[in-house]
Amino acid sequence: MKPDVAALLQVQAEDLHLYGIEDRLSALAPRLAALEVGRVRAVDALAQAKQQAEADEKKQRDIQDRLRQHREMRDKSETLLGQVSAPREAAAAMAQIEQAKRFVADEERDLEGLGHRLADLRKLVVDRLTAVTEIERVQQETRAALDAERAALQREMDEVKGERAKKSEGVPKPLLMKYDRIRQRRRSEAVFPLRGQSCAHCDTAIPVQRRSTMRATGNTELCEGCGVLLFVAED
Ligand SMILES: [Zn+2]
Repeated sequence: MKPDVAALLQVQAEDLHLYGIEDRLSALAPRLAALEVGRVRAVDALAQAKQQAEADEKKQRDIQDRLRQHREMRDKSETLLGQVSAPREAAAAMAQIEQAKRFVADEERDLEGLGHRLADLRKLVVDRLTAVTEIERVQQETRAALDAERAALQREMDEVKGERAKKSEGVPKPLLMKYDRIRQRRRSEAVFPLRGQSCAHCDTAIPVQRRSTMRATGNTELCEGCGVLLFVAED
């Protein structure tokens, strides 16, 4: 194997290392995004429970107002009943009392049901608030951990880039440029050995003439099947 091809293979090893680091770096963001989706969902659920509780509290105040009015009405009619003497007026006052009592009974029953519901809703609000707080805590921890991970990967990447630059000095410029073009298109291995009579990547057979030229010169050739750079591994 010619030294420039050997040097190119070393450059390629660093590039593959770099791709691995890049992949690990880009896998960090989705982890934060997933946590954020969960947080937004929890915040929405909390707002919904709060809104429901507020609506029920308003309903409760309205019923309490009506209840107060109907109790007053009942008390007034009872006072009136004690004062009237004509049977027709007494009957009217009794009817008023009966009606007011029915309203009062209905509203008391409604208030009791509403009270239970509100107690449940308030507990739900507390639970959901706890859930939001917990998600935000995890989010903060994860963000810190991911920041540290990102910084470590960045350092690793800088080192590998330094190594890559050093190793690429051993590769002739035209060969390096050709390799870079293929590599950037593929974002993976771009140099493969001949395996028997074929490309080790796509298995396309290489014509005898080209193979013997490659053996004689030690130069690389483009595979017609897949476009990678081919070299002769054995002498
Ligand atoms: Zn091929």
